[in-house]
Amino acid sequence: MEFRMQAGVGARAAATGLLLALAAAPAVAEDGAAPPVAVAARLADDGAAAKLSFDLSGPVEASAHAMTDPDRIVVDLAEVNFQLDPAVGRPTPGRGDAIVKAFRFGLFGPGKSRVVVDLARPACVERVETTPIAKGSPAARLVIALERCEPAAFAAAARASAAPAPAAETSETATIGPASGPPVIVLDPGHGGVDGGAYGAGGAVEEKTIVYDFALELARRLEAMKRFKVVLTRHGDEFVSLEDRVRIAREANASLLISLHADTLGGSGAEVSGATVYTCSERASDAEAARIAERENGADKAAGVEPKAQAPGVADILFDLERRETRAYAHIFSRGLVDEWRGAARLNRNPERSAGFVVLKAPDFPSVLVELGYLSNGEDVSALTSAEWRGKTAAAMAAAIDRFFAPTRGEAQKAAAAGDAPAPVDAAARADPAAPANPLAAGAPAR
Ligand SMILES: [Zn+2]
Repeated sequence: MEFRMQAGVGARAAATGLLLALAAAPAVAEDGAAPPVAVAARLADDGAAAKLSFDLSGPVEASAHAMTDPDRIVVDLAEVNFQLDPAVGRPTPGRGDAIVKAFRFGLFGPGKSRVVVDLARPACVERVETTPIAKGSPAARLVIALERCEPAAFAAAARASAAPAPAAETSETATIGPASGPPVIVLDPGHGGVDGGAYGAGGAVEEKTIVYDFALELARRLEAMKRFKVVLTRHGDEFVSLEDRVRIAREANASLLISLHADTLGGSGAEVSGATVYTCSERASDAEAARIAERENGADKAAGVEPKAQAPGVADILFDLERRETRAYAHIFSRGLVDEWRGAARLNRNPERSAGFVVLKAPDFPSVLVELGYLSNGEDVSALTSAEWRGKTAAAMAAAIDRFFAPTRGEAQKAAAAGDAPAPVDAAARADPAAPANPLAAGAPAR
């Protein structure tokens, strides 16, 4: 079976038209500042071999390596401006024995782009090269050629290309502690760059764009209140690993982290809609929460990044002690946010849930993850892409943040401690069904 798909300008262009399109794309500047533009992508896959090619306005350095779990081929490139419909690489049902399941492309880091090819069956890299498309033109074609290979050969290739983990960076030296000055609100728009996140049924709407637009709107409103310092974990369409998102928040001395996402449901889930606020827990509150956490925790893998193995030890025990209190605060914020949101926009029928989200695991400040809505639901897509909805919901979230940090809260807690009112922190801690029974929680010896 021969499978082909085409996209971008090249899809409708004859060879001459393609060269015209490439000529019209911004040329590489003399100082080399403008990256080559990709205007077309093609995949030919007959089950024995697959060839993925990109037509570029200029040549680009490329190298490929294999990764397992799930099986992928990751191609690292100098920066490329992909002017392609991201839908071109998405899975197409009924492709029989094809090698390639799907592919993604986009910015990976400053000056770096990446193509990630998800494999339906083991395949090894036969060659990766850029060759000129025509004499006398800088236009070049990047070809990623794959061949079916034995699972053992693929596993060996993946082992061979597994680079030693880079030396630990600054996470241990981050200064953690009570901030003097205004509360630091860290907004974490999910996904970005090569990892587009979820996408709508039509393919045009991408999670990474929706959540970034929302984060900018919320940041604008918070800054206008002049009570908070606002930090974003990404700026524009860039890839940031889950671990780096937490590190950025810790280094910013976060008082609160809000991770922003938008989910999708396949099959019969099209009528599921509305926003959901997630807090971190060891065990998921329900099957849906577990599914969401698994999907969101897979963001690094989608971008071809291997999550670092976590070494258990004393740090984890301290982690748990501190985390109980932060979780209680996260619950308080979650409750307040749901209350504010209810007056502004649609909530999921079960709007407060919990699961083991990697991005929520910082022990030293409360974190929540908000799924703004479902890209599989038509009404949610209309809402999520409208400036009116964004304005209303960002205002509601800003109000919830303002209420959470209102000076009166400290007074209420003092009063509660004196027996005048139920203590909100304790109440939330008791209400947390997923809090681990930690034998060290009371009277643990300090070490
Ligand atoms: Zn997401």
